[in-house]
Amino acid sequence: MTAAPDRPSAAAPRPGPPLWLLAELTYRCPLHCVFCYNPVDFAQTTPEQELSTEDWFRVLREARAAGSVQLGLSGGEPLVRDDLEAIVAEAHRLGFYTNLLTSGVGLTESRIAALKAAGLDHIQLSFQDATREVNDFLSSTKTFELKQKVAGLIKAHGYPMVMNVVLHRLNIDHIGEIIAMGDALGAEYMELANSQYYSWAHLNRAQLLPTRAQLEAAERTTQAWREKLGDRMRLFFVVPDYHGDRPKKCMNGWGNVFLTVTPDGTALPCHTAKMLPGLAFPNVREQSIESIWYASEGFNRYRGDGWMKDPCRTCPEKEKDLGGCRCQAYMLTQDPAAADPVCSLSPHHHLIEQAVAQAEAGVREQPLVFRDPKASLALSGTRSQP
Ligand code: SF4
Ligand code: SF4
Repeated sequence: MTAAPDRPSAAAPRPGPPLWLLAELTYRCPLHCVFCYNPVDFAQTTPEQELSTEDWFRVLREARAAGSVQLGLSGGEPLVRDDLEAIVAEAHRLGFYTNLLTSGVGLTESRIAALKAAGLDHIQLSFQDATREVNDFLSSTKTFELKQKVAGLIKAHGYPMVMNVVLHRLNIDHIGEIIAMGDALGAEYMELANSQYYSWAHLNRAQLLPTRAQLEAAERTTQAWREKLGDRMRLFFVVPDYHGDRPKKCMNGWGNVFLTVTPDGTALPCHTAKMLPGLAFPNVREQSIESIWYASEGFNRYRGDGWMKDPCRTCPEKEKDLGGCRCQAYMLTQDPAAADPVCSLSPHHHLIEQAVAQAEAGVREQPLVFRDPKASLALSGTRSQP
């Protein structure tokens, strides 16, 4: 079923294809990470509302026909779905390069063998910390030893070991131990990505935002390890927006290369864009990927720079960052077309400075909110959904 496309916005140049498809197969996840990037109201999507295997096959076919080449399989925890192997096989048959983003929970010997046989190209395993105590505390599960075993399985099945650790105030001082753990587990790549403050991380920002001194020490430690490791392991350190004075080019530009499909089939230019007001995002159940990408209002609204207002509109740097992140602008200013407040030229930059000053002054005493369905339902409808 293909509905009539929305009207495209003003004369923007035709974008390239959606090279990167992120398939969020489910929001179900056995972990409860305090920095989880899933929407705060994720529990409103029930398992019954998730796309079926056949729906995903059609999405993959349509995306491939539209020019997608990279497929991220994520969630929640994608291994919760027992059709993951079938989805990987279909993606492989269509010629995608497939990447599984997993907490490791559910990746047994038989499943990794089946995924390998289905043609899975790449696995990225997340850890929360180098110690059992902090790993298990931050995810509110006992998963540390299990993740170590899964790392061994990934190596044993001939995959490069790619580890991902989200950094924040509660684990950033362990960065040396985290890198040492990756080295001991034979990791070839490690992404040390400072938390960005959306969704659950935004709720917990007062406890998670590191101080500048913590950040600088972590960068020094990472650099020292780079020199020590040489070619053995590549380390990617992603700084948090809040400690910069210019925003990142969010998603490499709105509707430029990334297309996310959420568990219920909503198509988004980034996985948090659903929070933005006044935009109806299309659903793959009702509209083709080609039509969604090129013709929908949701994908056209913030493409390029035609939507900008000052200071971005007249800024000589706008091509570099296209005004930063629309979700961050909306969360902090309630205006999705504002300059990202991370930018020191934004009239709202003081909001970022206040948050950083609060981090420097020390953590406010308030309980961390763990990502779980009960908390999600309690928070749904009582606040905007960053
Ligand atoms: S961040 Fe944690 S809770 Fe959220 S989907 Fe990933 S593993 Fe699950
Ligand atoms: S004013 Fe806007 S376009 Fe210029 S650097 Fe700041 S965010 Fe980027």
